[in-house]
Amino acid sequence: MKILLASLCLISLLVILPSVFSASSSSEDFDFFYFVQQWPGSYCDTQKKCCYPNSGKPAADFGIHGLWPNYKDGTYPSNCDASKPFDSSTISDLLTSMKKSWPTLACPSGSGEAFWEHEWEKHGTCSESVIDQHEYFQTALNLKQKTNLLGALTKAGINPDGKSYSLESIRDSIKESIGFTPWVECNRDGSGNSQLYQVYLCVDRSGSGLIECPVFPHGKCGAEIEFPSF
Ligand code: 5GP
Ligand code: 5GP
Repeated sequence: MKILLASLCLISLLVILPSVFSASSSSEDFDFFYFVQQWPGSYCDTQKKCCYPNSGKPAADFGIHGLWPNYKDGTYPSNCDASKPFDSSTISDLLTSMKKSWPTLACPSGSGEAFWEHEWEKHGTCSESVIDQHEYFQTALNLKQKTNLLGALTKAGINPDGKSYSLESIRDSIKESIGFTPWVECNRDGSGNSQLYQVYLCVDRSGSGLIECPVFPHGKCGAEIEFPSF
């Protein structure tokens, strides 16, 4: 009888313990990334002003906003590890590319480090189970290189000229050129017109490849949206 009880206890421990451990680590886990790029013209022509970075006016191209770990149910983790602050010395080899591909447009003007620090601390720390700080920024830069959004749009005759284009044609041209359906986020220009602000693509957990989005964010653009110049 004693042996039977002891083995029952042992079996229940073996069953319960792993689930306790996996529950505690899964709170910092995630299912996929959103890779989010912003159109600078749409950040700058709203009622709020923008500021060019210290290095000067960025190129008229989409810039990185962030690489955001997400859950398949649409929720997401944030600020996962206060013990790993942003440290620009870990990405000194990437700074030239960062300034070009991940420029800041917020005021007051800065080098971009405040933007990168915010993105690392809010989102990057939640992907530490897969990639470290250097890999996080390197992964975003690689994705930017692989996804030429402006090229996809202009190839389809969709240019940043202040005209309006159908949301469908914008989505279709990106899908056609990049191979995956994007999610388009709009904001409003100074006169209240709906315009192309950010493009979301989904990336697998390792950060190496695009995937179809398991879930799209919420929000709505008009059927016709403006593509402002920058
Ligand atoms: P907003 O409220 O302007 O859409 O988003 C504000 C910020 O919340 C974003 O810049 C981003 O940091 C975070 N955020 C908004 N939506 C999502 C989402 O669907 N997934 C993740 N991971 N972060 C999001
Ligand atoms: P998120 O919306 O990603 O949580 O937060 C964006 C934060 O980064 C805001 O505090 C915003 O002021 C700052 N930021 C700095 N530069 C930029 C930029 O170029 N675009 C956007 N969207 N936010 C920026």
